[in-house]
Amino acid sequence: MAVTAKAAQLDMAAPLPTAFIKLGLATYADLLLHLPLRYEDETRITPIANVLHGQLTQVQGVVTHCEVQYKPRKQLVARIADADGELSLRFLHFYGSQTKQFTLGNVIRAVGEARGGFFGLEMVHARCRVVSADAGLPESLTPVYPAAAGVSQTLLRKQIALVLAQADLSDTLPELVREQYRLMDFANSVLALHHPAPDVSLTALATRDHPAWQRIKFDELLAQQLSLRLARQTRRALGAPAIGSGSDLAERLLAALPFALTSAQQRVWQEIRSDMGQPYPMQRLLQGDVGSGKTVVAALAAAQAIGGGYQAAFMAPTEILAEQHYYKLRSWFEPLGVEVVWLTGSLPKKAKQAAMDKLLSGEARLAAGTHALFQEQVAFARLGLAVVDEQHRFGVAQRLALRQKGVQPHQLMMSATPIPRTLSMSYYADLDVSVIDELPPGRTPIVTKLVTDNRRDELVGLVRDKCQTGAQVYWVCPLIEESEKLQLQTAEDTFAALSLALPDVKVGLVHGRMRSADKAAVMTKFAAGDIDLLVATTVIEVGVDVPNASLMVIEHAERMGLAQLHQLRGRVGRGAAKSACVLLYQQPLSALARARLKIIFESADGFYIASEDLNLRGPGEFLGARQSGAPMLRFADLAEDTDLLAKAQQAAELMLKQYPAAVESHLARWLAGRQEFVKA
Ligand code: ADP
Ligand code: MG
Repeated sequence: MAVTAKAAQLDMAAPLPTAFIKLGLATYADLLLHLPLRYEDETRITPIANVLHGQLTQVQGVVTHCEVQYKPRKQLVARIADADGELSLRFLHFYGSQTKQFTLGNVIRAVGEARGGFFGLEMVHARCRVVSADAGLPESLTPVYPAAAGVSQTLLRKQIALVLAQADLSDTLPELVREQYRLMDFANSVLALHHPAPDVSLTALATRDHPAWQRIKFDELLAQQLSLRLARQTRRALGAPAIGSGSDLAERLLAALPFALTSAQQRVWQEIRSDMGQPYPMQRLLQGDVGSGKTVVAALAAAQAIGGGYQAAFMAPTEILAEQHYYKLRSWFEPLGVEVVWLTGSLPKKAKQAAMDKLLSGEARLAAGTHALFQEQVAFARLGLAVVDEQHRFGVAQRLALRQKGVQPHQLMMSATPIPRTLSMSYYADLDVSVIDELPPGRTPIVTKLVTDNRRDELVGLVRDKCQTGAQVYWVCPLIEESEKLQLQTAEDTFAALSLALPDVKVGLVHGRMRSADKAAVMTKFAAGDIDLLVATTVIEVGVDVPNASLMVIEHAERMGLAQLHQLRGRVGRGAAKSACVLLYQQPLSALARARLKIIFESADGFYIASEDLNLRGPGEFLGARQSGAPMLRFADLAEDTDLLAKAQQAAELMLKQYPAAVESHLARWLAGRQEFVKA
């Protein structure tokens, strides 16, 4: 497609054709940061006589022969010759029109991997084009961009070259910042990455160590830091009720607990309490390994809010977990004269309405439920605190959305998936973090065993013995991602088989497809000891708390992720009894599955497991970003760019204080069209 000088006047803010959306590109300006995946060297032409076997090379020659052969299969074979060599071009797949390219006498430029074949040197499926004999060579390496259907390399190269020629490439970083961190300037960085000079080290470009890449990654991390910090400032400006220690409800709750807080719990409780005394909303993430006792800390915060005349809400991602909170909160708060309301999406209409009325009138002070609690139109009279459990299951966008409802309550987010430091420095830059780094006393370490699937029968015997001593057991059925129906079937089959094999054992079944009332009934029976062996799908993954359970069997552990295994295993080892977790696996193991099982076998430390998990999977997968829409970093790699991240953090602070105009232009460049970063 010929581009006239007039058509070349691009409006950078104009939308690109819809085919570009698949590539995350909305406007012409976005093309500036659509950077190459790799490069091809078309700056040189190698004389055919010098072409080496097995090497990617560019050659040029005149077509001397072209034919479609039919044996051993249909193929197009052409020959080209230069001053002192000849080479065959072979195509096993080709269009009829392609033969035209190879009209005798045409000059062909071909890029491909040469091989010494039976008939001499040849290239299979080389990239060929017809050129004039004196056509010049490009001066820079040829970029290879992420492309998509309807958006070809050629189109991308052409459009990006136009954008580069016209876009505003001025630097958004103040001189001082560039000097302090020895950063290359922006214009030269993007130009170098789109069209690197032939003498640039391709290795440095590939490993992204090149100063141009460093600059781009820094800019990206900086944009993330700036936007999260601005979002935080905006929320802060909204204000929240300062709930000081006006009442003694929290003290009374503390006094009534059957245990004393660990010193880690005490420390984080003080941090939370002091946040709540401020006239702006708390934005705190409470991290603590499975079983570290986060719930009670959150309950103390709720008591503080209620004592101060406000309402508190507990939200959990699943009904089972929400229900557990509900029962726990009731056992703690009802003796203190505080009613707890239960609210989930599946509640009958009438009951839901009654609960909502109580929250709207302010009659109910404490509510527990699933996110339906907030996502539907639930209005509170005086919401002072919102507790979000298992925060890691929700993305940044959702986290921000929760806060957008009219009232600005204090927010306490909890996560049992310990978030490695680099991640909390980046994706959670808008939150304060408290960490419970100590387990309550009296926990016995869980023994983890790896057992191959063919020893199942032996294991069933062990389960029988365990149950006879009064212990309780979880049997977790395999995760079958392809089919929920199949998963349910497996759970039911396992339940039937174990019930048959263990006639003296009371066996129960809980799975995700059950009605929530039925699920709750089973869990209550298990908690009360009326069920010895609970067959479960991974619905019990988070938060379930039955201290008497001391053995867990996980089937097909090789299919599960590390976080999931760690969470599951954390369901045992909560009481005084010595606990064990048996990971049943099926041979042969993939390399990834082997790596995961080794990690989970060797460590019970949630932070260690999480950072290994991050190494294995990368942050996108780790954060479950694909489901949650968390903003992804396109260029920076948190596992490798820790240094840059720290620098970007410092620079963000400085720029927010001293260079507000630079902040604005930097965000405009980096966040245009990227909805995930939208401010709260
Ligand atoms: P998680 O942090 O995984 O949410 P929970 O809050 O469910 O952990 O606590 C796990 C168990 O430990 C619960 O039974 C809880 O009552 C108990 N617990 C919490 N804090 C203490 C403590 N300081 N001493 C003894 N037991 C505690
Ligand atoms: Mg919990």
